[in-house]
Amino acid sequence: MDSGVRQRIYDFIQQKGLRKTTQRDAIIEAAFNTTEHYTAEELLAMARKIDCSVSRATVYRTLPLLVACGVLKEMDFGKDYKFYDPNYVDHPNHNHLICVDCNKIVEFDDVNIDTLETCISKRLGFSVERKTIRIEATCDELKNKGACGKKKPG
Ligand SMILES: [Zn+2]
Ligand SMILES: [Zn+2]
Repeated sequence: MDSGVRQRIYDFIQQKGLRKTTQRDAIIEAAFNTTEHYTAEELLAMARKIDCSVSRATVYRTLPLLVACGVLKEMDFGKDYKFYDPNYVDHPNHNHLICVDCNKIVEFDDVNIDTLETCISKRLGFSVERKTIRIEATCDELKNKGACGKKKPG
């Protein structure tokens, strides 16, 4: 985990007048030990591998903290749960492709998209501040086999 990110989080927690706890430490560690996108439940499972006493409530309290701190990005992919992305600090301009069936998420960058956005914005008299592109698709596994490897039964 990047020491700059760690410092930012602990400064933020201190500013909020919150104490350092081993549970929260484990959650923070798990949240940034991966470049994968995860749900709150997935983060809970990852944090419990570090510290088995981590509670679901602490995960749900810690996630908004990390989002408010600006180190974690909350993403709504139109599901009834949110995804969290730890990669925005390093790559603030990346885009996502998500498999609607198995939730596989792939990040991409493309200079053509940047050009297109700049052109469209300029034409309409705007300057790009932020952008998110989300492509909802089905992965090839689904196409070829009729089911995704990652898709959970039920
Ligand atoms: Zn991402
Ligand atoms: Zn899929």
